[in-house]
Amino acid sequence: MPHRITFTRQITQKDKARFMRHTSLSETSSYNRTPCLEWTGFKDVNGYGGFQFEGYHIKPHRFAYAAKHGEWPTYVLHHCDNRACVNVKHLYSGTQSDNMQDMIRRGRANRLAQTGSRNHYAKRTENEIIELRKIIDSKLFSDKQIANAYKMAQSGVGQIRRRTSWKHI
Ligand SMILES: [Zn+2]
Repeated sequence: MPHRITFTRQITQKDKARFMRHTSLSETSSYNRTPCLEWTGFKDVNGYGGFQFEGYHIKPHRFAYAAKHGEWPTYVLHHCDNRACVNVKHLYSGTQSDNMQDMIRRGRANRLAQTGSRNHYAKRTENEIIELRKIIDSKLFSDKQIANAYKMAQSGVGQIRRRTSWKHI
């Protein structure tokens, strides 16, 4: 979700210290021979982390990027594919297209991870639908590409686009 928030102050050493208290080095996940640094602090009911800064819940990896580079790019992406990771060496600022490619790739990985469980269209979570909407609305991919990545029927993609299903989201 692109952030359009303008912060009124810079990130201080004190903020960074507060942030670092909620992280731990991963023993299992790494990228380019450096371990992931995982967020252990607040997570919402959907498993998304949040760090309080200026009264906002900022995604921890976005905060980590801003703390390091002093800027808030629209998209901060993971090289390591570990959503909980806040290791600045594993983060990069990308374009909207990069972000969509990343979502498609992750969607595919998630689908593969769910093999064996019933992954019926109707059982998708609201978060997945929100993600799908972003991908669909970006017009960067065909219905067929999206359907393949998400292991769903092409007609299902059309229904989401036309809001004949999941209208409430
Ligand atoms: Zn990582």
